[in-house]
Amino acid sequence: MKTYRVAIVGAGPAGYFTAQALNNSCDNERNFLIDMFDRLPTPWGLVRSGVAPDHPKIRTVTKVFEKIAAEPNYRYFGNVELGRDVHISDLEKLYDVVVLATGTSLGKKLGIPGENLPGVISAADFVPWYNGHPDYVDVNPSLTGKYALVIGAGNVAMDCGRMLALVSHELSSTDIADHALEVFHNSSMRDVTIVGRRGPEHAAFTSPELRELPKLDQTDVFIDSQQITEAIARVGNRMESEKDLRSNLEAMREIAHAEHRGNERRLSLAFLLTPLEILGDGKVEQVRFSVNKVIDDKVIATDESIELLCDLLISAIGYEGLEIPGVSNERGRIANNDGKVREGVYVVGWAKRGPSGVIGTNKSDSSEVVKKIIAELPATPKGAVDISGSLSGEKVVTHDGWSAINAAELSAGEAVGRPRRKVVSWSELLSLGGAKAT
Ligand SMILES: Cc1cc2nc3c(=O)[nH]c(=O)nc-3n(C[C@H](O)[C@H](O)[C@H](O)COP(=O)(O)OP(=O)(O)OC[C@H]3O[C@@H](n4cnc5c(N)ncnc54)[C@H](O)[C@@H]3O)c2cc1C
Repeated sequence: MKTYRVAIVGAGPAGYFTAQALNNSCDNERNFLIDMFDRLPTPWGLVRSGVAPDHPKIRTVTKVFEKIAAEPNYRYFGNVELGRDVHISDLEKLYDVVVLATGTSLGKKLGIPGENLPGVISAADFVPWYNGHPDYVDVNPSLTGKYALVIGAGNVAMDCGRMLALVSHELSSTDIADHALEVFHNSSMRDVTIVGRRGPEHAAFTSPELRELPKLDQTDVFIDSQQITEAIARVGNRMESEKDLRSNLEAMREIAHAEHRGNERRLSLAFLLTPLEILGDGKVEQVRFSVNKVIDDKVIATDESIELLCDLLISAIGYEGLEIPGVSNERGRIANNDGKVREGVYVVGWAKRGPSGVIGTNKSDSSEVVKKIIAELPATPKGAVDISGSLSGEKVVTHDGWSAINAAELSAGEAVGRPRRKVVSWSELLSLGGAKAT
């Protein structure tokens, strides 16, 4: 029996699905010892810090992750950042295989004048703020105005728009961070518009997210029915052959024709507008957009422009990966060839593909990379020394440490009828997790 040591860096879905695929490929001849590292004391990546709190079912995938973590061949090293606490060359010496699953956490910039005005923030800051990521507690967006614009036409933009448009009591039974619940509770935002540069037919929303909008009790949802009629005419026969496109456009058509309840809160979806300039005196007040049209499936700016009122602007136009010392970054992800970075080093998930795909997409993607890893395993495992010796034990949040954090959060939640109350300060996380900040 050959035992290979594998380091997986990043405890998000891609990291766990890699561990699962490795376990599934154990046989009489080989097995794996898996060490999973994360820069946070807490695992689960964007399932904890990205998925919207009003979508608790999506978070149930963590049961799968906890099952993998309970296997005897698995160890968790939380509060260990690749590039800060350990260099990739250290891992390459100690492990037969290193898998990078570090995601893409940096928000893409709009690159237009006015982007630095107060009141302009990225979804990459707003989302982890409301989800209680310890690095984003101080983002503290001002929700004191009436008008919010969310730039982007994907599910992240949809999450941001929906969160702003909900009434706070719709969030009070979720695991939203306490600090965010209070800000949402005092929010005066009443008019939220999600703005896409391209047409309805190009939007990257998925239809379940669109179909839940008319079910919002306290918020009226608007889409210009003419924009949908024109989009349906433009796609023509593709309505029949492309199932996802049809489902999306039908969901948008239903929203466009739905009766409104006269709610004070409004959530609108607008298309064919490119932000040109953010205007304001000391803070964002308006955004100027070019009005676009679609010709032969291409989006073209017209001479027309419009200005929309705005007290808060959230850009949700995609993510890029942070640079990691020792590996090259290419177009916002780790440079790779179908998941291979170099001999013995692989990449999976958003760090490999860029920020696209739902949680499940990472499962098939990780399985493909694991097939490659298995085919390229060295004939003889390194049999190198254990990393525990070179990492200060006081620094690491182990799986038991995480379990203590998890238990504390769950019981604090149970006491107030919520699924969990997240611990959001580094010092408390480390102390609960039995580690020291070093
Ligand atoms: C706002 C938002 C909402 C979403 N909602 C949904 C949804 O409702 N349903 C759905 O199916 N999908 C959703 N997704 C998509 C889903 O979250 C991703 O497909 C998935 O999380 C990507 O997995 P990953 O493991 O590649 O990256 P991540 O989940 O980002 O995990 C990366 C991990 O690496 C760690 N890390 C980063 N750098 C380092 C380092 N240098 N050293 C050590 N650790 C490091 C991070 O702390 C993190 O834990 C959403 C995504 C976003 C952004």
